[in-house]
Amino acid sequence: MTRRILILPGDGIGPEIMQHAIRVLEVARDRQGFDVELEHALVGGAAIDAHGTPLPESTLELAKAADAILLGAVGGPKWDALPTANRPERGLLGLRSGLELFANLRPAILFPQLASASSLKPELVAGLDILILRELTGGIYFGEPRGIDRDAAGHRRGFNTYVYTEPEIRRIARLGFELAGARNKRLCSVDKANVLEVTALWREIVEDEGRQFPDIELSHMYVDNAGMQLVRAPKQFDVIVTGNMFGDILSDVAAMLTGSLGMLPSAALDANSKGMYEPVHGSAPDIAGQNLANPLATLMSIAMMFRYTFGEAKLADDLEAAVSDVLDSGLRTRDIAPADGAGVQLVGTDGMTDAVIAAFSRRLSA
Ligand code: NAD
Repeated sequence: MTRRILILPGDGIGPEIMQHAIRVLEVARDRQGFDVELEHALVGGAAIDAHGTPLPESTLELAKAADAILLGAVGGPKWDALPTANRPERGLLGLRSGLELFANLRPAILFPQLASASSLKPELVAGLDILILRELTGGIYFGEPRGIDRDAAGHRRGFNTYVYTEPEIRRIARLGFELAGARNKRLCSVDKANVLEVTALWREIVEDEGRQFPDIELSHMYVDNAGMQLVRAPKQFDVIVTGNMFGDILSDVAAMLTGSLGMLPSAALDANSKGMYEPVHGSAPDIAGQNLANPLATLMSIAMMFRYTFGEAKLADDLEAAVSDVLDSGLRTRDIAPADGAGVQLVGTDGMTDAVIAAFSRRLSA
């Protein structure tokens, strides 16, 4: 079975990381018989320059036909002055909605070798491995009515609608239970059920879905407490499931626990586990073209692709272990190196990828 993967390098550091990252897919193909066909297309600023739109119809069609998509990053100062509707980031939103990618998976993993890079004390975060599951296509970011008008007294009034339907809650809750089942079997649902009716319904439905997953330990937490607990004792969590806005905020908090943007992968999945995989970081225009970008977030996004879309758990495990091997060996890109550089060997995007590929190949043949 040939898997079709669409490569969308995007802008800034996206293309230079991607050029190396696809070598990992080639290793999996050549060494492990992971039969894959790569296609390439433009998105974001690069697509604006070539076609006048951040998401050309041809890119969306290729994305729909692909089994998975690997995205670099989009955006940059060159396109900052464009109206919101034409900006590079619109390309991402168009892909998410066009492909119905309703589930955003953001693991926050802190390799013990990097514990000192976190803003929290090493003992609180060393070995951290939590997964935040954020609903991505509903909630207050999409609810209608929305807008700014005037009230009866003539004062300007802004409003949005926080709405979730029962099926929307059920499908994200179910995925949360399934993901927890493949990990440490604990799911924490985050809401504000004491104040917002929509999340009282959320809690009720999650509770109900949970009856089908008796082996998963379900807990509920108000979002304010969840924010506090994430910085107080983050290792208490396994999988967190929550709505779009709360997930947006909490996943950024969790991201910073790990110290570096350059280490964080993510996935957005549809109902059939087709996914778009991308690093959490942006296009980093300040370091683009200098061989300074950390490729590990993108490489670990590939590991997520192996695991969640293609069911290749061994390839995923081996690739993640290869990253850990390389960190053990002391190699660091600048963003994850100690300021004085003591005890580590600085490498660029290419050197880091070469080392991970060598370690991955060793793991595959072990
Ligand atoms: P950014 O993530 O691009 O960069 C923030 C800081 O982190 C910068 O100092 C950068 O050098 C550093 N950094 C980021 N990724 C790194 C990596 N892999 N290795 C080493 N250092 C890394 O965020 P920003 O500066 O706020 O945004 C820059 C552009 O990226 C903007 O146009 C923004 O809209 C866009 N953006 C895109 C995405 C996306 O494509 N998903 C996400 C966030 C921001």
